[in-house]
Amino acid sequence: MSLEDIHPKKGQTKAYYDALMKKCDLHLEQMEKELPPSLEKWEDTLRWKGVKRRDFLKWCSVMTAALMLPPIFNGKVARAAEIVSRIPVVWLNFAECTGCTESVLRSSYPDFDTIILETISLEYHETLLAASGYQAEECLEEALEKFPGKFICVIEGAIPMGMDGKYLTIGAKGKTGYEIAKEVTSKAAMVICIGSCSSYGNVQAASPNPTEARGVKDALNISTVNIAGCPPNGVNFVGTLLHYMLFGAIPALDHIGRPLWAYGKRIHDFCERRPHYDAGEFVEEWGDEYAKKGWCLYKMGCKGPYTYANCSRVRFNQGVSWPVMAGHGCMGCTEPKFWDKMAPLEKPIADQALFSLGGEATIDKVGVGLTAATVAGIGVHAVGSVIRGVGKEKEDT
Ligand code: SF4
Repeated sequence: MSLEDIHPKKGQTKAYYDALMKKCDLHLEQMEKELPPSLEKWEDTLRWKGVKRRDFLKWCSVMTAALMLPPIFNGKVARAAEIVSRIPVVWLNFAECTGCTESVLRSSYPDFDTIILETISLEYHETLLAASGYQAEECLEEALEKFPGKFICVIEGAIPMGMDGKYLTIGAKGKTGYEIAKEVTSKAAMVICIGSCSSYGNVQAASPNPTEARGVKDALNISTVNIAGCPPNGVNFVGTLLHYMLFGAIPALDHIGRPLWAYGKRIHDFCERRPHYDAGEFVEEWGDEYAKKGWCLYKMGCKGPYTYANCSRVRFNQGVSWPVMAGHGCMGCTEPKFWDKMAPLEKPIADQALFSLGGEATIDKVGVGLTAATVAGIGVHAVGSVIRGVGKEKEDT
């Protein structure tokens, strides 16, 4: 379902959303009938976690807005959240560090993303599984037999393709990651790549990539929903599950498979340091007086202008903070090949690379652009302040 399917054109809002709500109801009813029953009631889960229903409803309105739906969908999102944990999930781990599992499934405070992820019907997850060896493989086979075409396959980690995939063999039968991924994804209702390793290969695929590691889409030539990030944000994973539960379809994706509702805007567009960027106020070296003032980290290598993700809006650890807020620039971890193109550079990217990434001009050009726009728009006094900021930046470089 595309964004155009979900969001109406001008003049058709009410009738359109009424029809869409009915569609949601039908899908939710169908899911409630088809999915295996939950082990405990949602109200009991909340009580056991010590959280109030009123807070749950507040979280639902935040998720509704995050999914770019109007507030009339709050109730539908609440209903979807109550049954989403009944979807069977098979979680595969390939070439990775398990940081995505840690980031998404672990938390010190029981927020609602965490509760949903903790109660999700994980039919198979190597890291969390008590069984091992042949027993673990039986668990996987059982899950595939029990829920053919009905489960969500979540993949964490890249797939090494060199030496016929033998850089990664798993389990007592010694199957390669490629063989396991091919078999399991062919029986899944939807494949979600959690993290940048399974999405695009990430550090395993960084130059010179001796194991010929690849993301799942490239390795298997299948469609995937890519929840990119190193690690990704649990909110983006839960939102994608809720979308699937509401509409029975994957959300609209960008050209590299990321949900548009979460990855449609740049980090830079909602960064709290953005006013300093626009004013030409930059940190010049780690720990300087400008760092203490919270100025922009662009000159220290922040890749926020080229990176599409919602980190600056939803943040991490229950919205407490995110890397730029903590004082380090964005490394571009939601973008393909960021280890080769962005992360190691603690300085702005050179012009040529920058334009190929679709970002803005270099900082000097940003200054010139700002000056021209300001001259045209808001008059001489304001121009003076912008020129002072840019001029200082030029003197110092
Ligand atoms: S360059 Fe980085 S620190 Fe500066 S405004 Fe953009 S995202 Fe924020």
